[in-house]
Amino acid sequence: MSGLLPWQIDTWAGLMARARGERLPHALLLTGAEGVGKLDFATRLAEGLLCQQPRDDGSACGQCHACGLLAAGSHPDFRLVGPPEDKKVIPIDTIRAVGEFFALTSQYNGRQVIIVHPAEAMNLPAASSLLKTLEEPTPGALLILVCSCPSQLLPTIRSRCQQVAFGLPECAQAVAWLREQLLADVDAEALLALAEGAPLAALRLNEEGGLAARQTLVRQWAGLLEGREDPLAVAAQWKPWGLVHSLQWLNSWVTDLIRLKSAGPDAAISNKDLGAQLQNIAERLDLKALYAFLDQLTEYGRLTANNLNEQLALEDLMIAWRRSALRR
Ligand SMILES: [Zn+2]
Repeated sequence: MSGLLPWQIDTWAGLMARARGERLPHALLLTGAEGVGKLDFATRLAEGLLCQQPRDDGSACGQCHACGLLAAGSHPDFRLVGPPEDKKVIPIDTIRAVGEFFALTSQYNGRQVIIVHPAEAMNLPAASSLLKTLEEPTPGALLILVCSCPSQLLPTIRSRCQQVAFGLPECAQAVAWLREQLLADVDAEALLALAEGAPLAALRLNEEGGLAARQTLVRQWAGLLEGREDPLAVAAQWKPWGLVHSLQWLNSWVTDLIRLKSAGPDAAISNKDLGAQLQNIAERLDLKALYAFLDQLTEYGRLTANNLNEQLALEDLMIAWRRSALRR
């Protein structure tokens, strides 16, 4: 099948069976973790539905006039809607345009498709405006909301969409797929663990030099305990990864350290590729200090939704981490 991710084939077949029976709902809400391929799926679905000669499995032919227009970004019956460039929020004007678009007549095969991504980026006026569109569905129109955080959507929007949930793929399947995308010397398993099982996020991390950067970060992090590194300088190294990402990594490392402390050097850990470094760190700390640091990470995790100064938060965490070593 063209371009469909291997762990999405069953979901695809289910939706296509409904499309053939004209039983597709007018609004779908695709949910699941960041990096499992929801937007890819939404795009393949739009292509398949708008194609003039779809294949037997419902995927787009890639050859017809409609497919050509889609590839060129100029199909009149398709829109991909998101926050304006350099903005994080989808404003009401953008969503009003969705309603206006559905009011037009389909120019090709009777279908119109709009993808809203990420749907949780809509502000309240935008979400209210979308609600109106959802309440008055246009025949042949399909609205696909792509969302990693459905709890941030209005409940009234959630209830008017049919939810399609994307879980994390099986580890073996994800690793096999990643290996096909990566150069042979990249550790696909480590990358996937780092991305918490989300294959597309793993791929992105690789493009951003995630594995190599992580080796440096863990070395500096250990250096803090030994008094070799300066917490403010180390915090500056973390900044490009953002606070949310940094907290995920630190959480995963500290959890592994607790496992090593509790079950010994043979403990099953997530960050296998950092095993030696983590074992060295574990020897410098006691469990109490590790749990105290974990609490701090959790606390910052709760605060990330607020307008937190990321640099200060990272500095605070690195200073606290250095103190952990002295606490023994
Ligand atoms: Zn086609």
